[in-house]
Amino acid sequence: MESIVWPEGARSCVALAFDLDGPTGDAMLDGSLRHNPGHFTLGAYGPYRALRRILEVLASQQVPATFFIPTWVVTQWPRQCREIVEAGHEVAYHGHLHEPFWTLDDHRQREVMACSRKIFADLLGIQAEGFRTPSGDWGKDTAKVLLEFGVTYSSSMRGDDRPYFVNVEDQSASLVEIPARWELDDYASLAYTQAPDFPAGLDRIAPYRQVLENWCAEFDGSHAEGLCLTTLFHPKVSARPGRIALLEGFIAHMKSQHGVWFARGREVAAHWRAHHAGASIDG
Ligand SMILES: [Zn+2]
Repeated sequence: MESIVWPEGARSCVALAFDLDGPTGDAMLDGSLRHNPGHFTLGAYGPYRALRRILEVLASQQVPATFFIPTWVVTQWPRQCREIVEAGHEVAYHGHLHEPFWTLDDHRQREVMACSRKIFADLLGIQAEGFRTPSGDWGKDTAKVLLEFGVTYSSSMRGDDRPYFVNVEDQSASLVEIPARWELDDYASLAYTQAPDFPAGLDRIAPYRQVLENWCAEFDGSHAEGLCLTTLFHPKVSARPGRIALLEGFIAHMKSQHGVWFARGREVAAHWRAHHAGASIDG
């Protein structure tokens, strides 16, 4: 395969990313969450408690990361979210209540983006430029809406194992997509809740040692081919006392290899825009 040029002569790129969803999602959107305190506290545990462990691991390993945050979470836990920014990590769009954008018309998508933009500015003092689609799919107008809000990159789709450009009809600007994949979603191996039974049909979490081996194997393949790897990790899932060692071990394994460029999403996007005229997928 052709080799990709990364900064500082690096062999491959790692863009660690965490989705700080808290209790947002379907149950909040349909109102049922208010009657389900068990589910609510399971989600709230992420920003309220588990996030701290991730920030400590990132600080001790000295690697940057990107946090995709539904802005309702920012309104409920502003201090914790400010700590992310103060630590030098990137905060980026992830809806307000984790709305699945593919179910929203373009008007509603703009309302959600405008709401998020204001909360990020008012409570965190930032102008976000990245976006990860809640629940993983776009509506037909989403790419256009994102460009209108100054978004430069998305980390939502799965079309490649390198960043790529998404062109938008009638727009001169394009989005950089940093594809994320389920292999590096901690839900796939570590999530389990009884009520609701989710993920449906998965009644046991995976052995932790095997989870770490899987994550490291994904990195090893990406590094060998000089690609870009990102993660879909959730503090409430993988930053519990018995699991944080997995994240520590994963980062330590990657750092033990030569030539890994650890970067925030916006830096990956800027680099890709400056140096690569890669294959594009029309949006
Ligand atoms: Zn999410």
